[in-house]
Amino acid sequence: MFTIPNELVELGIRRIEGHAVQGFVRSYGSPSPKLLLIGEAPGENEIETGIPFIGRAGTELMRSLDSIGLTREDVYITSSVRSRPYKWGTKKERDGTVVKRTYNRAPIASEILAHAPLLDYEIQHLEPMLIVTLGNIGLQRLIGKNAKVSELHGQKVCQPIQYLNKLEDRHFSLTLKPYRVVPTFHPASVFYRPSLRELVQQDWHQIGDYLKELSP
Ligand code: URA
Repeated sequence: MFTIPNELVELGIRRIEGHAVQGFVRSYGSPSPKLLLIGEAPGENEIETGIPFIGRAGTELMRSLDSIGLTREDVYITSSVRSRPYKWGTKKERDGTVVKRTYNRAPIASEILAHAPLLDYEIQHLEPMLIVTLGNIGLQRLIGKNAKVSELHGQKVCQPIQYLNKLEDRHFSLTLKPYRVVPTFHPASVFYRPSLRELVQQDWHQIGDYLKELSP
């Protein structure tokens, strides 16, 4: 089992202080993963259990992995941000009372930058054959903010990726080495747009084919 060292966990927690985030999911997985999967940020279920992609989106993701003969144990699952970004909102209970509660939100640029050293460490040490980004946040973290999952999904992009060269940097640098990245939609996207399901299935079929091509 591979995971990041405690010092990096502590660094991540320190660097994200002051943002509206909750908890920390460490991420762990195979030390020689078939795929490195990069999501967005944990939600409520992940913070509660400490396991990435354990909620509803996780069930979708496990189905996709299963469609190409893989399980959670074969891959390494991580995300651009390890704490749950939240915002306050209200919810009407059955009895009509209105309660304040937190909702998930997408991470902002400074939160992604705060946890960049953690993801960089994982990519550097795991040296994955193929990286799969799940949604725009993971894709843009690696390829840059103009990349769009709607345009690139299912394609194997082979190019240098973004990393944080120095802890104090406010902008990403590019690796010298190229990496193979296949962008696909976030597993939760089918809840909001059921019509995406077919594209997601096709992307995963492609990912399975890319893996076969790359396996010795
Ligand atoms: N979305 C993510 O990006 N990661 C999780 O762990 C759960 C949902």
